[in-house]
Amino acid sequence: MGQTRTLAGQVALVTGASRGIGSAIAVRLAAEGAAVAVNYRERAAEAAAVVAHITEAGGRAAALRADLGDPAQAAALAAQAAAQLGPVDILINNAGIFRGGDLADFDFAQMEPMRRTNVDGLVAVTRAVVPGMQARRYGRIVNLTSIAAHGTSMAGTTFYAATKAAVAILTRRFALDLGPHGITVNAVAPGFILTDMARQNRTGEEAERFYAAVAEKTMMRRVGCPEDIAHAIAFLASPHAGFITAQVLTVDGGRMDYVVHP
Ligand code: NAP
Repeated sequence: MGQTRTLAGQVALVTGASRGIGSAIAVRLAAEGAAVAVNYRERAAEAAAVVAHITEAGGRAAALRADLGDPAQAAALAAQAAAQLGPVDILINNAGIFRGGDLADFDFAQMEPMRRTNVDGLVAVTRAVVPGMQARRYGRIVNLTSIAAHGTSMAGTTFYAATKAAVAILTRRFALDLGPHGITVNAVAPGFILTDMARQNRTGEEAERFYAAVAEKTMMRRVGCPEDIAHAIAFLASPHAGFITAQVLTVDGGRMDYVVHP
């Protein structure tokens, strides 16, 4: 007897899906049978390649440009996804940016756009998607927070961590509001995942030394790949996870450096 794919007949909207973790999520949800709206901000060619990858494998997908830092564009995204693929059953709030800064060099002009994308954009897209989910009494929302929100000591990540801590508490509060409507809201907190964001400006031997040092701090002795996160999200986005809500699932290979004893 053939196995039914867990997301057959469903529609997923993945924000920031042109590359990195978001593109792996889009491909993974499509493999489970979902039609996938691939949101991006500026890299149209990368988003088109993700769509082509999905459609060539027999799936349905559409690329949707929207800068989530702009409240109007963020709010319009759900309707665009529904017009192209059908009403959204699954929302993955993945889009995010990193801007470095700690207390001593706080720069409002740098930090404000990060907050607008990482926090305000997530709120706007969620608000736009929720009424349809409520009407159908079904929904899965998964947000991307970070181990930064657990409180790491990595220099330059103070205000990025604050945006991700906001995502963690919004996850719990939205879950509280939406549970009675049949909608689960969870978050995944990735550790160090090799993407453009994590690479930043590191290259060559310096980069290799840094990744090896991070790997040493995980129980699994490696850095993560986007698929590590996509697998966890595919479960939380599935009908099988219907009694799991308000949770933050850490996917970091077992980091050992939160509390260091001599
Ligand atoms: P990435 O490689 O830098 O990719 C970011 C994605 O988000 C791109 O698709 C980008 O679109 C999109 N994006 C950025 N700003 C946007 C905006 N204003 N509107 C719409 N789309 C926007 O990042 P990543 O490493 O995959 O990270 C994905 C998520 O995981 C983020 O929320 C990040 O904070 C979180 N995370 C990452 C790590 C890690 O180690 N990588 C760890 C913890 C948490 P364009 O291609 O069009 O620019």
